[in-house]
Parts: sequence; C-alpha cells; structure tokens
Amino acid sequence: MTEVISTPTNAASAPIAPPKRMLEAESVTRTFHVSQGFMRGKKPLHAVNGVSLHVAEGEVLALVGESGCGKTTLARLLLGLLSPTAGQVRIGGQPIHGLKRREIARLVQPVFQDPYASLNPRKSIGSIISLPLRIQGEGDGPSQRKRVEDMMELVGLARRLYDNYPSQLSGGQRQRVAIARALIDRPRMVICDEPTSALDVSVQSQILNLLQDLRRELGLTYLLISHNLAVVEHMADRVAVMYLGRIVEEADTDTLFRAPKHPYTQALLQSVLTPEPGLGVPDTNLGAAFPNPLDMPSGCRFHPRCRRCFEPCRTAMPKPVPHATGFVECHLYDPAYAASVPVVAPR
Ligand code: SF4
Repeated sequence: MTEVISTPTNAASAPIAPPKRMLEAESVTRTFHVSQGFMRGKKPLHAVNGVSLHVAEGEVLALVGESGCGKTTLARLLLGLLSPTAGQVRIGGQPIHGLKRREIARLVQPVFQDPYASLNPRKSIGSIISLPLRIQGEGDGPSQRKRVEDMMELVGLARRLYDNYPSQLSGGQRQRVAIARALIDRPRMVICDEPTSALDVSVQSQILNLLQDLRRELGLTYLLISHNLAVVEHMADRVAVMYLGRIVEEADTDTLFRAPKHPYTQALLQSVLTPEPGLGVPDTNLGAAFPNPLDMPSGCRFHPRCRRCFEPCRTAMPKPVPHATGFVECHLYDPAYAASVPVVAPR
C-alpha cells in the first residue's frame, strides 16, 4: 500500500508580497511661467502641483479630468519628456532623471491621441515601426524587418502594408501602427493618452480590445489618460481623478464608479449621462466655469464650483484623507471638520 505523505505547506501563512511598483511619482510639481502680455511680466502656472501616484506592475491606472487639468503635462513628466520643478519620478524603481533617453524608451512608451499627427507621412509603415529598433541599434535590416512584420501581425495589421504610407491607411490602422511602434522594443509600460478619442466610434472598441489583449499577452502595465469614463470603467483597475493640477480622488474602479466621494468626481460621473459625454462637465452640476489656472482659487481649488462648499473650503487647502482603496482630498471627509459639515437634505 502506498503511503500518502502530506508535505507541509506554508502557503497559507506566507506573507503576500505587494506587487512591484512600475511607476511612481512623488510630490511632483511642474510650474510654467506664462507671459501676461507686454509690460505685465510672467505669472507662474502650476500645471501639476504636488502629485503623488503609483502604478503597479501589470496594472491599469486611469487618469481622468477635464481638459486643462494637467493630465497631459503629468504624462510628459512620467515619460521623462519634461523635468519636474520639484519632486521625483521613478520608473522600474529607478529615478527617471538618472536614466538616458534610450533607457527610458525601453521601459515606457507613449501612444498618443491622434494617429494622424503622430505618424510621419513621408515614412513607410515599416520604417515608422522599426524606428525604435534603429535608434537602439538592435539587429540588422532583415532581423528588424522580421520583428516589424511579427509585431504588425500581433496588432492586427496585414504584413502587406509594410511598404504603404500612413495616408493609405484608415484611422484605426494608423493607431495600430502607433501601438506597434510603441511596443516593438518590448517596453514594460505604455502611457496611453486618449488612445481612441480621435477615432470613429465603430473603431474605438477594436482598439480598446487590442490594448486589453496586448496587456495580457505581453504583461504590460498601462497608464490610461481618458475623458471617456465608459472606457475607464471598462479598462482600468484603479482611477485617479485630477483637478487643476492635483489628484483629488483615487480609488479602485468599482469603488469610484459605485460610490464616488469627491463632489468633482460625482459631477464627472453625472456628465456621462449627458448627450455629449466628454465635452466637459455640465453646468447643471457645477456652480461656475472652469477657473483660470493663472488665477487659482484660494483654499480648495474646486470651491467656486462645488455644491457642497462650506466655510473652511474657501481658505484651507484640503489634505488627502485615506480610505480603503485610495484617498479623497476634500474637507467633507476630514475628521478635523466633521463637526462643521453642513447636513444635506435628501433630494
Ligand atoms: Fe467641495 Fe469643500 Fe470638498 Fe472642496 S473641500 S470639494 S469645496 S466640499
């Protein structure tokens, strides 16, 4: 009779290591000095103001907010295309400012909104996709061609398009070219800045499904910048909401869509229900127009538009208040102001 030997396992008691952080921003600020016109000098514009966030390996973090809130400046900081005025960005655990451009390109690549503008119209598809390999000096002509053709297949482009030009392709095909170029040197992370907003609605879901498939197949990490909350809900594991240069709320996707805490997040989610989602937050939910970033409101930056504004909001800047899956930057949740929060009558 065979004796069954049970091997002891410590799986139940072993601590689960937290996922590695692929990208980290620590109190990152970027200030521009903007001309005020002749004789009026320049004024500081804090496009990104003390932002801290991280993206874990294999995760999709979405960054949402209105146009002009600082999303694209933050993306450029995270890609190493801009230097922060203060704070630090780390990619793959290393400070980005200590890496050469080529080293950064091997770790993180962008996919931009407009495939019409981001592809050189005078270069063939093969030449566009192989550019990162030629810059990195990887392989010879035939091996580069083989890698490009394999990548074209992976992103759903026929190999016969190798010698075509961007003008001969549809919008969806051009975005596939942009994705192939971003992935050809196998980066670990992709920053997708509105990757479908320039495309026909019928093509958008194909590109989103492609990004999802590539994430699984290649083990990619994404930072997804989008004003389309339906896309965010479909793709993201976590969401960070940006307003006037700050992250005002961060939570896992389910929590944020089910129970948004920040009044701005609540207004954004209501805007999805308008006939023209993505064109901004409707005035019906917000008290005033988007403020001039050169003339920031005092206290909470959102207070001129906030229907929950109460006295401290006009003078005191809110601090991040942690919760189970993230944080919210709003006095309504700060225990220090709990006694003075006005009671809201049910609607
Ligand atoms: Fe509104 Fe005050 Fe919260 Fe700002 S801190 S979002 S003004 S309630």
